[in-house]
Amino acid sequence: MTHNIKITPCSVSKVSGLDFNNIPFGRVFTDHMFTADYIDGQWTNLEIKPFENLSLHPATLGLHYGQSIFEGMKATKHLDGTPLLFRPDQHAKRFNRSAQRMCMPTMPESMFLDAINALVGVEQHWIPSQKGSAMYIRPFMFATDEMVGVRPSDSYKMVIIVLPVGPYYTKPVSLIAAQNYVRAVKGGVGEAKASGNYAAAMLPSKMAKDLGYDQVLWLDPFEFKYIQEVGTMNIFFVMDGKVITPITDGAILHGITRMSIMDILQEKGYDVEERLISIDEVLDAHQRGTLTEVFGAGTAALVAAVSKLEIKGTVIELDWESATVGPEAKSYLNDLRDGTIKDTRGWIHPVELPVVEI
Ligand SMILES: *Cc1c(COP(=O)(O)O)cnc(C)c1O
Repeated sequence: MTHNIKITPCSVSKVSGLDFNNIPFGRVFTDHMFTADYIDGQWTNLEIKPFENLSLHPATLGLHYGQSIFEGMKATKHLDGTPLLFRPDQHAKRFNRSAQRMCMPTMPESMFLDAINALVGVEQHWIPSQKGSAMYIRPFMFATDEMVGVRPSDSYKMVIIVLPVGPYYTKPVSLIAAQNYVRAVKGGVGEAKASGNYAAAMLPSKMAKDLGYDQVLWLDPFEFKYIQEVGTMNIFFVMDGKVITPITDGAILHGITRMSIMDILQEKGYDVEERLISIDEVLDAHQRGTLTEVFGAGTAALVAAVSKLEIKGTVIELDWESATVGPEAKSYLNDLRDGTIKDTRGWIHPVELPVVEI
């Protein structure tokens, strides 16, 4: 480790109170958290300490003007018990890209990686070993200047919290293509994991839920014609024997799962294309009976089968039980994450242990 992280252990771990076979999603936190401050042009106070509330001035800039970004990644356990991280270097790079877009400071990738390594190492007993379960890692950063006035903050706080999670989205999802609202536009902030993107999607997502759908399938903001992605997942279509995903055109988040699945499926011999996909093309393939599978891809779910898709009043039912491509990619990713399949691409990074005896 190149960065000095002060570690203050908690007195008693809460881990024995967790039922690893039944983990409520997103609500169970571990014993410690990582925090660091950006002050006077540098990152300082790198620290792992007992999990606690943050205390904030009411005029904390990030709360008012949205300079706030995050990442989402996972740690799993190798069958031999070693904690593993999946492509942490890519998450470090994306965190910096999000920061740049939101006029926030970047950090050395080594600082991001050391912080994740140290925190996951300290919390390794919280990583579930059940297949499909994992420790979700949530790094985030927000503006901390205490003032009212729109300008980039001078000071920032970075925090990392980790949560044990069970298998996510075990049920297939239903989607409805956007008709009145947009998520992102080229030149906007759709490529950043910026907090405001998710707030902006909440009303349309709620309306989709009221219509009986799980999530919105976002379309381009000009013609409502080209498919972008889902709220927290990129999207893949299997049409006419090809695996196709929308090209990242400046408004779509660069998913690391998306990128990994494209590689895996290409290597398995699939014809994988990254290009514009219009809703008409999907409707046409459906009518011709050649739309065989639709699935979402993201860290949380890895692969989520789409069982139903409504586009401009046409409801497409998909027989997800006979799907093969998505499940193949998903089990490959899960097998990589517990060492069942040997990693030949440098995607799997063992956590350096021991960080500290606790
Ligand atoms: C995080 C996210 C994804 C998935 O990215 P992964 O790196 O695969 O987790 C896709 N779309 C949006 C909008 C996201 O926020």
